Amino acid sequence: MNKGKSIWQEQMKPIEYPRLSRTMKREAVVIGGGLAGILTAYFLQSRGMDVAVLEADRIGSGQTENTTAKITIQHGAVYHKLLSWFGKDGAGEYARRNQQAIEDYEQIVQKEKIDCDFKRLPSFLYTIKQREILRQEERAARSLGISCKVKGDTELPIEIAGALEFSDQAQFHPLKFLTAVSRGLEIYERTPVLKVEGNRIFTPRGGVLAQTIVFASHYPFINRPGYYFMRMHQERSYAAALENAQPLEGMYYGIDQDAGWSFRSEQDRLIIGGGNHRTGDMPEEDPYEKLLAASKEFWPGCRPAACWSAQDCMTADQVPFIGRFSRRTPGWYVATGFNKWGMTHSMAAARLLTEEILDQQDEKESIFSPRRFKWSKEPFSMLRDGAITSKNLFMAWAGASPKCPHLGCRLDWNPFEKTWECQCHGSRFDKDGKLLAGPAQTRLIQKGEKR
Ligand SMILES: Cc1cc2nc3c(=O)[nH]c(=O)nc-3n(C[C@H](O)[C@H](O)[C@H](O)COP(=O)(O)OP(=O)(O)OC[C@H]3O[C@@H](n4cnc5c(N)ncnc54)[C@H](O)[C@@H]3O)c2cc1C
Repeated sequence: MNKGKSIWQEQMKPIEYPRLSRTMKREAVVIGGGLAGILTAYFLQSRGMDVAVLEADRIGSGQTENTTAKITIQHGAVYHKLLSWFGKDGAGEYARRNQQAIEDYEQIVQKEKIDCDFKRLPSFLYTIKQREILRQEERAARSLGISCKVKGDTELPIEIAGALEFSDQAQFHPLKFLTAVSRGLEIYERTPVLKVEGNRIFTPRGGVLAQTIVFASHYPFINRPGYYFMRMHQERSYAAALENAQPLEGMYYGIDQDAGWSFRSEQDRLIIGGGNHRTGDMPEEDPYEKLLAASKEFWPGCRPAACWSAQDCMTADQVPFIGRFSRRTPGWYVATGFNKWGMTHSMAAARLLTEEILDQQDEKESIFSPRRFKWSKEPFSMLRDGAITSKNLFMAWAGASPKCPHLGCRLDWNPFEKTWECQCHGSRFDKDGKLLAGPAQTRLIQKGEKR
């Protein structure tokens, strides 16, 4: 079994882009070559802007290559919550922008003739016990104009209490799509941005002067202003591709705590996902073993062909931050906090940011605005996250385990993936200290090791 590599990485021959090794001027720079960054650059360029993408590693090599790649507006049972927190306007905008994102995928795939296994299919939220939540979600979704219905049964080999169907959603191969869309863009790989001051961007061998700068680096690596590190935490999940399991006609997402799995087919394999936990807050049981045990229960004859994992930035109100980076940084924009639904959110971000940048649209009223502050949500999560950070800073000061180069928090050892992880902000390092995920931007210096 291929452990650690997603099925999207199989048989992909990525295009190599050069390193940036000079100083130059561009109208816009996008930092980060994941789905959010590449799509934003694609939209800006198609509107005539002179734009370059700076990617620390290889394009797609962040969370995008480890997704399960469902393109859907069904983001868990989210609409009844959004309606009560943001009202009909806010929840409606969330649904509309994500619906537009599905249409945009289809149009781009057709226009650019991209062979990326894009397929329309229904998406289901299922539960083995919480039928009332499905009914509540159905009412909320319908009030926003989403066509949906609750069903009593599905093709899954699981006895369910109900499933809420959203028709006409989609799935695709994220790396085939990303590779095709990136053709024709000016991209620099192995070019980490070290520092941004006003409209000047610094990289190890060069720099760029740009009026517009988009931070699409998954987790914004600049702490102040913006303070995104106080407004989000990261959560990991696990996935496996199974052979010899029944192919599915739809995509599925279980809403039950500890019994909620994600399913979709990809060619002749079935992808199962689950095992969420806060990065660094290790579960007692190996999440891969748990995933495979569940797979055997549902499809006794199945065999795992690959297992992988990823993490995403989680906001207190389950809505991403897309818009101006901060009041004090004119020309800076951000797209982050996708809450594990970054396929549609990346596309929505690309369109929204393009409108803000080129049509001077004011994002203040948007549900996605980073300037929003939900009194019922953010103070609580900031207090909780602040307490976790204080505890880990103290333990880092008092203890022997390595400290994160981001803010100095204590790192926890993940025995299942052999990585060091920060519970506070989600940075990850391999056993030799190599940086795997930010917000940290440098490798880990172990005790006694020289810089
Ligand atoms: C297990 C799992 C399954 C998921 N499945 C789905 C799904 O089915 N559907 C869905 O909608 N969403 C899904 N998601 C969420 C989705 O995968 C992510 O939200 C999305 O991939 C994030 O894309 P991104 O472009 O923001 O980040 P990334 O892909 O991580 O891209 C950010 C890039 O920025 C680069 N970078 C970082 N710092 C710098 C720097 N200083 N200079 C230059 N470059 C830098 C990184 O190298 C990276 O390539 C899933 C998430 C998880 C955890």
